[in-house]
Amino acid sequence: MAPVTVSVPAKLNLQLSVGPRRADGYHDLVTVFHAVSLYDTITVAAATVSPELGDTVTVTGEGATVVPQDGDNLAMRAVAALRAAMPGTGEPVHVTIAKRIPVAAGLAGGSADAAAALVACNELWNVGLSHQQLCEIAADVGSDVAFAVLGGTVVGRGRGEELTAALVPSTQYHWVLAFADGQLSTPDVYATVDRLRRDSAAAKGSAAAKGSAAATDAAAPELDAVLMAALRAGDPVRVGKALSNDLQPAALTLFPALRKTLTAGTDLGAVGALVSGSGPTCMFLARNKERALALAAALSGAGVCRSVATVAGPVHGAALVTGHPGQHGRPGQQGR
Ligand code: ATP
Repeated sequence: MAPVTVSVPAKLNLQLSVGPRRADGYHDLVTVFHAVSLYDTITVAAATVSPELGDTVTVTGEGATVVPQDGDNLAMRAVAALRAAMPGTGEPVHVTIAKRIPVAAGLAGGSADAAAALVACNELWNVGLSHQQLCEIAADVGSDVAFAVLGGTVVGRGRGEELTAALVPSTQYHWVLAFADGQLSTPDVYATVDRLRRDSAAAKGSAAAKGSAAATDAAAPELDAVLMAALRAGDPVRVGKALSNDLQPAALTLFPALRKTLTAGTDLGAVGALVSGSGPTCMFLARNKERALALAAALSGAGVCRSVATVAGPVHGAALVTGHPGQHGRPGQQGR
């Protein structure tokens, strides 16, 4: 059986509203996911050389040395999850991941690789699951995995795995990403959100000061009507003003240098500036492609980040690059 190659995009969060911490340790979210043109590439092949080893993985490219090369790799967990969901299918595979999405950067690269592995194994093993079915398996692998199967601009609720169409035109937005010299752990960022909320409640002399857990509860998150109106209008200036991320204060607490990066991007003409997800990547919205290129050059020269990239969004989710002979579909484009 021929190897299957899938490319899968990074995500930004145009809104990331974080509600109270739940009993299971996760937080209720309302987020607007947006897939952008920075891709990892995953190839899945039948493990013909040493099938007795089971599934194996090799990671190359950006940040590869800090990515697990065993069953802890999110792509490997996705392979196992698909096999478990479809008993009787699924020969051992070798997964090759070529990373361009920086690791632990707030761009959901690991989730993207998991989504790509699901789409690739669905093809390699001839399982024939629909996008909807793949999304259901994806939701058990990780919070952002289902979105990476779909791509586009999509509203996420729950832990981020409950997806609904954003119903906005497919206006292309031009972004500059500023990659930081360092990483942030998503659990550390959420723990810092909780701590900052406790501190703030205590400072206000509320029940937290008396030790009540209830005082740390944030309001239930809601979809931002201003952002959605801006997206419906397809107006980058309005979208830029409406970007929001409840994780940003925590990311800035853990990685104070990002303040300088955000300020530089705004001073250099970005119409929106925000920490991406749990950071430390900063995302800047430009009015158009030309302005994005100019902003990227200026930011690069300002010495406020490790490197920059210009990307566009929305783009499709995990999609076949090559498949079985005679199959030319881009599954990432179906059913939308
Ligand atoms: P999150 O999706 O939790 O917000 P992130 O986008 O900031 O995280 P990722 O690049 O997904 O960051 O990596 C998070 C962690 O997941 C890394 O520290 C890494 O050890 C682990 N990981 C497991 N599999 C992968 C993978 N295929 N690519 C990148 N990281 C992976």
